[in-house]
Amino acid sequence: MQSNSPDNNAPALIGMEHTDLVALCHSAGVKPVHADRLNAWVFRHGVTDIHDIPELPQNLYGYLSRHVGQLNPDCIANQIADDGTHKILLRMPDGKEVETVLIPGPGRLTQCISTQVGCAVGCRFCLTATAGLTRNLSAAEMVSQVMLARKESEIGVRNLVLMGMGEPLHNYDEVARFIRIVTDPMGLAFSPRRVTLSTSGLVPAIYRMIEDALPCNLAVSLNATTDKIRSSIMPINSKYPIAELMRAVRNYIGAKSRKRVLIEYIMLKGVNDSIDDAARLCALLEGLGCTVNLLPFNPFPGTAYQRPDDVTVSKFHAHLSKAGLVVVVRESRGDEISAACGQLKTEVTERRKRVPVA
Ligand code: SF4
Repeated sequence: MQSNSPDNNAPALIGMEHTDLVALCHSAGVKPVHADRLNAWVFRHGVTDIHDIPELPQNLYGYLSRHVGQLNPDCIANQIADDGTHKILLRMPDGKEVETVLIPGPGRLTQCISTQVGCAVGCRFCLTATAGLTRNLSAAEMVSQVMLARKESEIGVRNLVLMGMGEPLHNYDEVARFIRIVTDPMGLAFSPRRVTLSTSGLVPAIYRMIEDALPCNLAVSLNATTDKIRSSIMPINSKYPIAELMRAVRNYIGAKSRKRVLIEYIMLKGVNDSIDDAARLCALLEGLGCTVNLLPFNPFPGTAYQRPDDVTVSKFHAHLSKAGLVVVVRESRGDEISAACGQLKTEVTERRKRVPVA
């Protein structure tokens, strides 16, 4: 006799692109038009139980019950800072925990999505790096962060940034699937201009993004202007040095789709915050039309780095602006709620060591 329960590893509908849903309808022996219905109920109405989707053919209900799983991660910690920054810790069905952060702006929210549990890149200024990589997240697990944010927050999420835990380009296939689902007008319907993937600089994968015409903007976490300094804070630079990375950036900007590139620069006191650094940054970015995000470092317990003082930050900023660059200083949001990536997860883990929780 055939069982009606899906196996534990059955794919969840929220991780499926429209083409997957069409194929699923085909396998169930029903018309492909029902894929549109599944799309609408799963992504627009946020339905997780297939029996809550009305008017599907009986054999499609049966097929879905057997072959499709559900993904409803638990929300295990919620922190909201005075400035409105909202951090959520989710527990996936295998017990692994990931963070997502909602950052308020005028009339909108920007959501920071995690793409891995931990990270293998090992940037020296990053808390997530200290624990190494546990595993990749699936596209469904990334979509579930967006779906959960919708439930938890009254204001709609307008922008998605893949800047949470993990290096998105180390998990290319699932991240690309996630981006196609969230930008699909039949899926979550985000404008590709409002989705930004941030990388530490995996050059071959940037070329793959160009080849695949991935519908999103690119942000590059540059953080230094000489290979010596960059390699000392980002080991990935030894593999893909600055010249190679900037060549890939120029190719990305010159590609047919003409997407925006954002340069992120975390300012570390005495490491990369001098006027000479600013001058070299201007030279590297000349003619590229990139926006620069300056991020004064947000220290966490145990880090060797410090935040530069405000005068240093404003001098650096002024130097870039004078050279014609569009520069935004992004103060870290929600300092009191551990807003640096990986901080809430670390804090909850530490708390558990002191007071074991179920
Ligand atoms: S900054 Fe990003 S890429 Fe670097 S270790 Fe942290 S999570 Fe990974």
